[in-house]
Amino acid sequence: MRSMQVREFGGPLVETVADTPQPQGHEVLLRVQAAGVCHTDLHLWHGGYDLGGGRTLSLQERGIKLPLVMGHETVGVVVAVGDKVSGVQVGDVRLVYPWLGCGQCEACSRGQENYCLTPDTVGINRPGGYADHVLVPHERSLVPLRGLDPVRAAPLACSGLTCYSALKKFGIERLQQQTLVVFGAGGLGLMCLKLLQGLGGRGAVVIEPNAERAQAALEAGALAVVNPQASDAIDQVRAAVGGPVHAVLDLVGNEQTAGLSFDLLTKGGHLVTIGLFGGAANWPLPLLAIKALTIQGGYVGSLPELHELVQLVADKQLELIPVHTCGLSALGQALRSLEEGKVVGRMVMTP
Ligand SMILES: [Zn+2]
Ligand SMILES: [Zn+2]
Repeated sequence: MRSMQVREFGGPLVETVADTPQPQGHEVLLRVQAAGVCHTDLHLWHGGYDLGGGRTLSLQERGIKLPLVMGHETVGVVVAVGDKVSGVQVGDVRLVYPWLGCGQCEACSRGQENYCLTPDTVGINRPGGYADHVLVPHERSLVPLRGLDPVRAAPLACSGLTCYSALKKFGIERLQQQTLVVFGAGGLGLMCLKLLQGLGGRGAVVIEPNAERAQAALEAGALAVVNPQASDAIDQVRAAVGGPVHAVLDLVGNEQTAGLSFDLLTKGGHLVTIGLFGGAANWPLPLLAIKALTIQGGYVGSLPELHELVQLVADKQLELIPVHTCGLSALGQALRSLEEGKVVGRMVMTP
């Protein structure tokens, strides 16, 4: 099998040919049909996150081992199954739920493997979809596509699931009654706008400095787009919302968006932040109490949520984001384009 490996953090991806693994027990081997290129892959590639104040979170210290085959948004066709696999057959096309845990701890047993402290994530802790084949450890990770196109379905495993799970944290009812404010109109922002429509939400005002992305947000159904560099940005957002801001979704997660989110929210407001750009927040703590704010993080989503999401996208025929395809050998270039902010929508590798 062919794969693209990270051999050293920040170094070029190296195309590698190795024996194709044979599945044992509950393992399933898929031939990759599509693998989304995610912003998280940039952090994996570079080996860490900026935590602000000069501190970094080192992935090497967190047990990420090299060489690493990235790719956690994968759709493939089943080509071989282990002897204990049931409910999945050769020829089935499946979306891989990558956020697997140990399967035994408290988090895993309540169906939130994404909160497991010993993750076994496909494309992070074990080889992922930046390859022509991927071996998954258990058939429970395979989600039927319900008729969706593989290239369009692949990004549901991470960016789609992250958006869906983040939106659900506000409560569907709140989204139907109140206008949401969303920071960022990259791939996640566009997905959130479409999912919000699918969930019957009232809509979102988007905060985005880049003109091209702002236009994409309007085309994806944003009620308005505000440039955060405007001196009256907060007033513009409140005017577009038509009153106090109750709900903010921060898809960027840097010091500016954290500060603006806090300032925007009214009493009883709810901030959900899933952005990973980095830095630290400097919130006035007495106001956190006085405004009775809820500040909540989100990390991808659960396996049951991925099943719900695929069902929602298939039922409502949602066209989530524009996708562009590239070949396996072009993944290094695709990552660089993503890093330079040149990708509108989602890049998906098709081997
Ligand atoms: Zn666990
Ligand atoms: Zn991702």
